[in-house]
Amino acid sequence: MRAGLATLAAADYLALDGRGQVSCLYPFSTAPTAHGIVIDGRQRYAMCSIDALGIPAMIDQELEITGRCAICDRTIAIRVAPGAILTATPPETRVVARQDEAEPACAACCPFTVFVCSQEHADRFARRIAGTHALSLGEALTHVEEIFGGLLAEELPASRPRGRRWGQARNA
Ligand SMILES: [Zn+2]
Repeated sequence: MRAGLATLAAADYLALDGRGQVSCLYPFSTAPTAHGIVIDGRQRYAMCSIDALGIPAMIDQELEITGRCAICDRTIAIRVAPGAILTATPPETRVVARQDEAEPACAACCPFTVFVCSQEHADRFARRIAGTHALSLGEALTHVEEIFGGLLAEELPASRPRGRRWGQARNA
């Protein structure tokens, strides 16, 4: 089990804290973050704003994301269905994202991939943190659904149809 977790951490599927406990399992954080999402009545937290937007498509459910502006701490509420932003309060809400080739994403990108309440606050965040840029919620949703779609189809170990393949091999 330990070796398995370390392998997944090395591949950046998850992160371990100093005691070897799982601290993040993309797109979820085990610790509270500014990107809350209620799933089946339970409060969950996403690693970053982009991850939060991808969860409805990932589990094929309409969900409410409750976030905070990274500049002014104003509450942000976004209703998301798979493939569509239904409502956003305030309507000018934007995503600020940082893309970095350096892994792990937990450390390099998530702290700088946030919600902001307006373009003005997106600009202020971008001046503060180099390499960030603002996206509309629709642009961010398209981006993350492409990433998560690829992950679920090809890369997440748990989604690989191993059992069926073994079954077919036995019958052959
Ligand atoms: Zn703000």
